[in-house]
Amino acid sequence: MRLDKFLSDMGFGTRSYLKQMIRQKQVCVNQKVVVDAGYQVDENHDVVTFQDEVITYQKYVYFMLNKPAGVISATQSNQMTVLDLIHEPYKDLFPCGRLDKDTQGLLLITNDGPLAHDLLSPKKHVEKEYYVETLKPIDENTIQKIAQGIVIDQGEQCLPAQLIHVQDNHCHIILHEGKYHQIKRMFLACNNEVTFLKRLRMKNLVLDENLKPGEYRCLTVQEIADLQNNLG
Ligand code: URA
Repeated sequence: MRLDKFLSDMGFGTRSYLKQMIRQKQVCVNQKVVVDAGYQVDENHDVVTFQDEVITYQKYVYFMLNKPAGVISATQSNQMTVLDLIHEPYKDLFPCGRLDKDTQGLLLITNDGPLAHDLLSPKKHVEKEYYVETLKPIDENTIQKIAQGIVIDQGEQCLPAQLIHVQDNHCHIILHEGKYHQIKRMFLACNNEVTFLKRLRMKNLVLDENLKPGEYRCLTVQEIADLQNNLG
């Protein structure tokens, strides 16, 4: 890979800025100054330093965002998107899946297309857990219908889902798929209405309680490994 691409992928600035920096002898490869931006780096073995800082190449990056209400899960829009909240220089980031504009909570932001593809694949049935508040109390009939696999909008069959921690008008729901507005439509099919929705977990990735709405952090090595495990 070109030296200027290596550095721009790792968030050290634009290619034109980095070309200047390289020309000004700010970059070394294996302890030798390199002034050619097109120098071919072996990202797995060469030791690259920028202004004496060693740069480790990471192909993929992963952030856990606590999505606030009012922003949309898209990469580009005339409205505010979740990517507008991620102040990182990495290119090609995208949200892994979608939450409605008014839904809050866990959203994985990454540039790892293959992992996102697996996590979102309808065949993998990756678990997603949400906290739900409803207008009316949640009754036994709702719990049963959702557990058996409810039919929404006159014909769309949902997979069985679990309601847990049910109390009056709030509960947790665990889905194994991701249909459009699914939870809202499930409760509408039970003559109820969702008034608040927050995603708490995807697979074994749990929303960090320390993140306020709009805040994000990098995933730990363990969290990344757990997401990748058993997706085959
Ligand atoms: N179900 C919904 O209705 N909305 C979401 O954002 C996620 C699941």
